[in-house]
Formats: sequence, C-alpha cells, structure tokens
Amino acid sequence: MSENNSSETLSQLYQEVIREHHKDPRHYGTLSSPDAHAEGYNPLCGDKVIVELKLSKQAPSVLEDICFRGEGCSICMASASMMAEEVQGKNLEEAEKAIADFRGLMQGTLNPEVIEGDIRALAGVRRFPVRIKCALLPWMTLKNAVEGRAGVPANTEKGE
Ligand code: ZN
Repeated sequence: MSENNSSETLSQLYQEVIREHHKDPRHYGTLSSPDAHAEGYNPLCGDKVIVELKLSKQAPSVLEDICFRGEGCSICMASASMMAEEVQGKNLEEAEKAIADFRGLMQGTLNPEVIEGDIRALAGVRRFPVRIKCALLPWMTLKNAVEGRAGVPANTEKGE
C-alpha cells in the first residue's frame, strides 16, 4: 500500500482535467439575446468573468443556455467551463443548489465524494486558499446573474 503514490496520481489526473477545460472551455462565447447576465472580478488574481443566461419562458425557469467569457487563470477558466456544463438544462432552483454545493466544496463543508464529474477535480484547490476565489468567481457571477443582480461585482465572498 502506498497511499501517497495513489493520491499523487489522482492529483495529476485532476490537473489534467483542469488543463483540458482551460485549453478547450465549454460554453465559451456570447449569447445573441441573453435574459440575464452578470460580471465578476477577482482583484486578487485579475480574473474577469462575464456570464450570460438564456431562460425558458414558462415556469419553472430553466437555464436553456449559458455562455461565459473573460480572462483569468486556468483555475478560474476551468471552473467556469465546468460550471457551464453542470448547470445547463437545470432549473433555477437546481442551479442554486449546484452553486451552494460548489461553495461547500471550496469551503470544506461538503465532502468531495458527493460531487460527480469533472468538478471534483477542483477539490484540490482548497489546499491553496488564495486560489479558492479564482474557482468560486464564475459560480458567484452565475449566482448574481440568476438573482438578476447584473453588474454587481462577485468578489464580495463572505470572510473578506
Ligand atoms: Zn485566478
């Protein structure tokens, strides 16, 4: 048994997932007529993210389409890409839950085991507190877009 080696391999795998999303981000671009949008900025790193949403007309509102663009570090851009993949097709309540879960993952209150898919690769970011804001920025920007608070900076995470 060499636990160190296996967790080393795992973190290499996660780094690969993050690099791949950064290199080839999903849902990167612009929507022609978004129903909601928000911009987020992380002054600690210089990350900037714009999130645009297309919502279904009938209740419950579903995120029919989501796009993001911006510039930032690989953690931020990969997180945005994974987020867009995760919430597309969800209704607003489900999206809010996904946001809360991701926040819990970053703040260490949610066990990474319950997170499925590529997003789990970001769990390792918790070991680098200064990068947590990079990973959270797209999600907080999405939250602002969902809540219709377009333009409100998403850098007012609690604890600051
Ligand atoms: Zn960053």
